[in-house]
Amino acid sequence: MTPPNVGELMVFPSAADVTRLCGTNAIGCAQMNLSAAGVIERASVFIYPYAPMDVITHEIGHAVLGLRHVQAVSGLPVPIMLFRSQNSDRLLTALEQEAVRQVYRRGLRGGADRGDFMAKNLIVR
Ligand SMILES: [Zn+2]
Repeated sequence: MTPPNVGELMVFPSAADVTRLCGTNAIGCAQMNLSAAGVIERASVFIYPYAPMDVITHEIGHAVLGLRHVQAVSGLPVPIMLFRSQNSDRLLTALEQEAVRQVYRRGLRGGADRGDFMAKNLIVR
């Protein structure tokens, strides 16, 4: 298995790699190489060959956008970035997309920490 070059995302559809690298109960995971500034400089997504599209979107959300897991909010669509999400959509929800837009719109970039997010009023505590 050849790791990706800087600036590349590689997807490995391999059940054996998923079991070995992600854990026995996982159907996918993302592994990222970060630069010293916390910027994702390359990423690998290991995915079970027949994983549903929402799992692929979830792992790419980790690998490309640097998203973490989120909690579900009653009355709103199930987020793709929910841990073990069973959202049948293939896209981030409108709320997740807006969260990503707000982060970039307010000038935050890779390496931003919790204090940076609080200073931009993106999180309150
Ligand atoms: Zn995840």
